[in-house]
Amino acid sequence: MILVLKASATAREIAAICDRIRSLGFAPAVGSAAERVVVSFVGAGPAIEPDLFSALPGVDKILPLRPAYRLASRAAHPADTVIRVGDATIGGGNVAFMAGPCSVENRAQTLEVADALAGLGVKILRGGAFKPRTSPYSFQGLHESGLEILAAVRERTGMAIITEVLAVADVPLVAAYADILQIGTRNMQNYPLLAAVGAQARPVLLKRGMSATVEEWLLAAEYILSQGNGNVMLCERGIRSFDKATRGVFDVSAIPLLKKLTHLPVIGDPSHATGHWDLVAPVAKAAVAAGADGLIIEVHAHPDQALSDGAQSLRPARVAALLTDLRRLTAALDRGLDVRDMGLRLAERSVASAA
Ligand code: PEP
Ligand code: MN
Repeated sequence: MILVLKASATAREIAAICDRIRSLGFAPAVGSAAERVVVSFVGAGPAIEPDLFSALPGVDKILPLRPAYRLASRAAHPADTVIRVGDATIGGGNVAFMAGPCSVENRAQTLEVADALAGLGVKILRGGAFKPRTSPYSFQGLHESGLEILAAVRERTGMAIITEVLAVADVPLVAAYADILQIGTRNMQNYPLLAAVGAQARPVLLKRGMSATVEEWLLAAEYILSQGNGNVMLCERGIRSFDKATRGVFDVSAIPLLKKLTHLPVIGDPSHATGHWDLVAPVAKAAVAAGADGLIIEVHAHPDQALSDGAQSLRPARVAALLTDLRRLTAALDRGLDVRDMGLRLAERSVASAA
């Protein structure tokens, strides 16, 4: 960290700033640049919060030299974080593929879509049992009985399960059933919830807050990491804009930016970003082309009957076509698509027979 002092800073103020730096275990180094006094910290002391200096008389600007998200930063941990869940691998060059309904609505609906996805080789099933709905009158999810359905589907198909946890009190329950815990966009800055999922062992998919900056998002990940859970992935799911033509704006540039800033895997969610099923596949491919480590996509066997997010849900046959395209795309990029091989052959067959 470097402090740039005000042009008006007095010798007494500079001395007080230097005393504060010494009290933290560093030696102050006073110099000048662009007609300003600048003070840097020499030595290896503890990490320092800029706030400790922001109100000191004479301080104009604080220039951090290291990002505040120490554990999430690529500088602190150059190698990619690789997360293994069941027989799926997330991060480290592969493209992971998670798919399933927005909500677990009932056993038959979940089994139908899960069987179709398992047949396509999908290794990770998504499905919400605790739903964060904008209106309190909308379907809120089946809660524990939804988790029981997901566990039964895992038993039957071998797929790993990702599902959202909404509240601190539900963390032990959801972690008892799920393989990956999802933190939704509305909870990205629910710090007690982040700490709670950081203190348990399941991997966490952290969605970007719909109005969160990349730095706020990485600091939210830092809350989880700092509790000891290193298995965190970041999910771009669209941010708010002035334009209502699509549900959100998929921030494709955030993907290569995050790959530079952090070692954590980055997942694209084109379903919530676009809100329209026919925009999902092109944006999914854009995410992979931009370097995403995986995708999470909403799928329903009967989107017209879905209790939530039917308009953005793909039918399984469209997933088959998407997987075929993704196999070509990942091969061109020299990457692997983490879907069971048998499923890829089935996907190709069903595309061929639909053509
Ligand atoms: C979801 O995944 O169904 C969901 C509610 O997502 P988000 O938090 O991105 O809105
Ligand atoms: Mn949804």
